[in-house]
Amino acid sequence: SCQVAANPVWQEDKVTGAVIVILDVTERMRGEQMRREFTANVSHELKTPLTSISGFAEIINDGFVKPEDTKKFAGRIFKEAQRLITLVNDVIKISQLDEGKFFCEKEAVDLYEAAREILKRLEERAKENNIHLYLYGPHVKVNTVRVILEEVLYNLCDNGLKYNKQNGSLTVTISEEAGRTQIVVEDTGIGISEEDKMRIFERFYRVDKSHSKAIGGTGLGLSIVKHGSMFLGADVKVESTLGEGSRFVLTMPEEEK
Ligand code: ADP
Repeated sequence: SCQVAANPVWQEDKVTGAVIVILDVTERMRGEQMRREFTANVSHELKTPLTSISGFAEIINDGFVKPEDTKKFAGRIFKEAQRLITLVNDVIKISQLDEGKFFCEKEAVDLYEAAREILKRLEERAKENNIHLYLYGPHVKVNTVRVILEEVLYNLCDNGLKYNKQNGSLTVTISEEAGRTQIVVEDTGIGISEEDKMRIFERFYRVDKSHSKAIGGTGLGLSIVKHGSMFLGADVKVESTLGEGSRFVLTMPEEEK
């Protein structure tokens, strides 16, 4: 859509022409629409855990909980509070990326080392679920913003664990081909349908809410991945077969090398 403004041009009290200004506001309107939806979603997502926390606290306060059950209720409150913290942190990350408010100091980052650090952070959880972690490739260095690259990689690997199967594997492969550096994060998990592939990068989108709810998450991880990649000038693509696994390919920009 566009806005049109026509202003007559006067010369000695006579209209001798007109200046027409056509402004394409499609992008601006889309941005505003997205922001409105985002605010509505955030408010909704904040409300759910807050309602639980308030409800559990009220029951305890009213003396309806047997002393031996207090621990259980405190546990629920703690879990919901943790969920709130994750959500608020994710929202902060997204708005910082949106506003370009990151410290953009670029530095030479060894991708292999960065991936190794991230896999180390996930090691405990992988063990608990019997998931094998693999890392392949050379020690390629790219000139990039470390915190954002780590955030992108972490979210991809975290999902590769969450949506995996018992005894599955998560493999990170770094490669350099024709001057382009790629990081592939591959899992042997539940996979993503053709239809969902188009939507998973949207804010708050989660495949099959009831199933995802058991797994836990905010629906913002891949949105951070998409925004973060854009910020780095990188490109992220997904390939997947339902029931077999998913493969996220992050291609770093050529000039960053
Ligand atoms: P969440 O917090 O739900 O993990 P994300 O934005 O990271 O949010 O992912 C959005 C949805 O995409 C997830 O809820 C899940 O349904 C799907 N998804 C993401 N990564 C994978 C993966 N590696 N395998 C299967 N499904 C995935």
